[in-house]
Amino acid sequence: MTILDGKALAQRIQGELTEQSAAFFAATGLKPCLATVLVGADPASAVYVRSKRRACARLGFESRHHELGPETSQQELEALIDALNADDGVHGILVQLPLPKALDADAIIDRLDPAKDVDGFHPTNVGLLALKKPRFVSCTPAGVMRLLEESGIDPQGKRATVVGRSAIVGLPAALLLTHAHATVRITHSRTPREDLEAAVREAEILVVAVGRPGFVPGEWVRPGAVVIDVGINRLAPEPGQERGRLVGDVDFDGAVEHAGAITPVPGGVGPMTITMLMHNTLEAARQRVG
Ligand code: NDP
Repeated sequence: MTILDGKALAQRIQGELTEQSAAFFAATGLKPCLATVLVGADPASAVYVRSKRRACARLGFESRHHELGPETSQQELEALIDALNADDGVHGILVQLPLPKALDADAIIDRLDPAKDVDGFHPTNVGLLALKKPRFVSCTPAGVMRLLEESGIDPQGKRATVVGRSAIVGLPAALLLTHAHATVRITHSRTPREDLEAAVREAEILVVAVGRPGFVPGEWVRPGAVVIDVGINRLAPEPGQERGRLVGDVDFDGAVEHAGAITPVPGGVGPMTITMLMHNTLEAARQRVG
């Protein structure tokens, strides 16, 4: 049984990206530049943005941060997006989601210059992925595919099941696995429980992105399967602890009894996500400079 160590792999790839960003600077006099936009006071969003900015600093990227209050109007945010789109010094734009409820997130994503959409959420980039001409791919599923590739796991000819069909994880993961020649089943909240179980039991590659702790029982995992657990769930704190543990969507202790390889939570898919964001930002900078 192999633990797929996303943390170690992410460190290695980030080392390579650091060298590549230095080479880009040497060739162009420019650092790849990521603009981050944080609206409102969601503490989890603030943590995510901070870790993305720290990654920029570590890898020799430029980071420009814009923080707007919770009362920000749609027009104000759109004006900021327009300014960032027009700014030649900005290569990638990341609008941290979720936005406050009063704002229309879809309209904001639609407004991004697709060439700066390093999150891969813009309809143009989603369409390009669907057409098997990917430009910027959503960072979490891109990280999942890189983790498989670097671990020597070839999806070709394999039965893969993706649990969850969100636009940012489940659906693009299913597309990428299909493009990699797996035979893919997608399950979601309307999938009858017995069909879900059957789909999980047949999966040689299982990707789970639901957002419920321990949602997939370990005993469902097919012997030798590759299990990619995207879920990040914080449990209630145990007595004497300030914060609860982070766990995935798969019952890890049960699944390790059956799986051939499995990602831990934390330390599996999470570190790969931020790494792919940096990868996309460098790529956006290269494409802009030509
Ligand atoms: P969403 O809430 O957007 O999507 C959850 C998906 O799970 C939906 O497609 C939903 O189906 C499906 N689902 C819900 N209940 C069931 C059920 N009973 N059976 C089968 N499917 C079900 O979440 P995300 O995709 O954004 O994220 C999923 C998890 O991954 C979360 O824990 C999140 O924190 C984590 N995550 C981790 C990242 C990382 O870097 N590791 C990055 C992004 C997310 P339906 O479409 O029918 O509603």
